[in-house]
Amino acid sequence: MLPGPFDDLITANKIHAVTHQPPATKGAAGRQLAVITCMDCRVSPAAVFRLDPGDAVILRTAGARVTDDVLRALVVATHLLDVTRVVVMGHTDCRMTTNTDEELHHAIGRMAAVDTRSLDFGTISDQRVALARDVQRIRSSPYLPAALDVLACVYDLGTGCVTELST
Ligand SMILES: [Zn+2]
Repeated sequence: MLPGPFDDLITANKIHAVTHQPPATKGAAGRQLAVITCMDCRVSPAAVFRLDPGDAVILRTAGARVTDDVLRALVVATHLLDVTRVVVMGHTDCRMTTNTDEELHHAIGRMAAVDTRSLDFGTISDQRVALARDVQRIRSSPYLPAALDVLACVYDLGTGCVTELST
């Protein structure tokens, strides 16, 4: 039988399951935390903040943007999953900060001959401005608790440090 594209994952899961312990909670965030960050595979929010399963809700988008889907998830997380604080974490060397939407459309069109011009990628020309704007988007949502604590920061892929931003 030919190897399948997911064989490595199924094999890894068999090893994982040997030592797996069932979670003690019902899905609430044990540290009352949600982290919104980029989908970049070099960023591991669990590692950055030393989080364990059950500690935090993790939401990921291209560029750590606070999209409508992120807001919807935050409404559930704050009202039903004990989240009282939210970190919005961008990172250095983010592809979404080094390309415009137009450049991404062109790059994808060149690589895959797919016309993506009807999509809004939410690319970022100024990361600090975008983070401040996304924090404001959370703070101004009528569906989220007014007392929600929100922090914006940038994770440095080189040093492993986060820099807090005032928003
Ligand atoms: Zn990124």
